[in-house]
Amino acid sequence: MILYAKQDISSQDIDAVVAVLKSNYLTQGPKVPEFEQAVCNYTDARYAVATNSATSALHVACLALGVGPGDLVWTSPITFVASANCALYSGADIDFVDVEPSSGNMSPAALAAKFAQAEKKGRLPKVIIPVHLAGHSCDMQSISSLAAKYGVRVIEDASHGIGGSHGEHKIGACRYSDITIFSFHPVKIITTAEGGIATTNDAQLAEKMALYRSHGITKEPQKLHRVDEGPWYYEQQTLGFNYRMTELQAALGVSQLLRLDMFVEERNRLAQCYRDGFSGSNIKTVDPLQASLSAYHLQIVRLPNPEERRVIFEKMQADGIQVHVHYFPVHLQPYYMSLGFKPGDFPEAEAFYNRIMTLPLHPGVTQSQVKFIVDKLLAHVAA
Ligand SMILES: *Cc1c(COP(=O)(O)O)cnc(C)c1O
Repeated sequence: MILYAKQDISSQDIDAVVAVLKSNYLTQGPKVPEFEQAVCNYTDARYAVATNSATSALHVACLALGVGPGDLVWTSPITFVASANCALYSGADIDFVDVEPSSGNMSPAALAAKFAQAEKKGRLPKVIIPVHLAGHSCDMQSISSLAAKYGVRVIEDASHGIGGSHGEHKIGACRYSDITIFSFHPVKIITTAEGGIATTNDAQLAEKMALYRSHGITKEPQKLHRVDEGPWYYEQQTLGFNYRMTELQAALGVSQLLRLDMFVEERNRLAQCYRDGFSGSNIKTVDPLQASLSAYHLQIVRLPNPEERRVIFEKMQADGIQVHVHYFPVHLQPYYMSLGFKPGDFPEAEAFYNRIMTLPLHPGVTQSQVKFIVDKLLAHVAA
């Protein structure tokens, strides 16, 4: 089976994790700060807060921005459910902004229309969460200037995106957002097994996210309410969680980060093979914006005929090719439908979903495997 995604673990990665196992600290030692600093250096963000998943990072990001009961958050319907769940964890309401038909990313035109409507109704969101689907940057210039116009904060869900850029700015630099989230789940670009991180240039947001990550507890003397209790004293100042990353994970992250650019280059090379393979056919690759470098988490293609997707999917699997679909629209999940969303609410997202298929793309795939996959898919679509 050619897997759709797979981690790439080197002997250096293994040595880095084993070294932590032999050290004094399995958690709350020097490796997490080292990983955070390495991600700051890479992305050019000022602060980074590592967590045990991107899901947790999205949650602490919402809390740090003050999202709570009575607030509203908007994200894309074409994403993993975590992009929306974080609003509900925070006690806020969720809504969605429809996507661009070619990219599946949040549509600036739909966002502009929805903002105008929301302003009329007197209920603007507190935060919007655009998602860089497949690692392809959303049109962040348009999205961030619209958000600024309405006084709305922005979290980029760049779970697919580490290693990519918008224009000359690395994703994670937060040039167009308050906070950026990355995921290090094994299917993503680099891995810490489970793990995530939030980057920001705002010291206060970083401090709040760090507080929420660790029970709402601080030990830093200058932040304590009770100054004279004693050197053993730590203080819980808000209701936080245990969302900490372990030292084992951070060591793996530091080691993986050294090969990030190589992974992204290889993913782009393979994506070019897919583009070349499908050019002139009725299978359309989902491509990044001109002025951005994609980390290429996923190779998504749009098929000519939604009615044939199921059959073609099953034929690909039978050929030993693990295909996938990213994503079933979040608003049509039974849980979200129980909140009142229904088919037809986001027609572009639903139309996008109906045609898409994800093909294998990761550094363990060879160019000849890509040719094999392209040939099979072309044959099944023509049949
Ligand atoms: C993977 C993913 C997440 C969640 O990441 P975890 O690290 O598994 O919690 C969130 N958003 C998107 C778009 C993702 O793909």
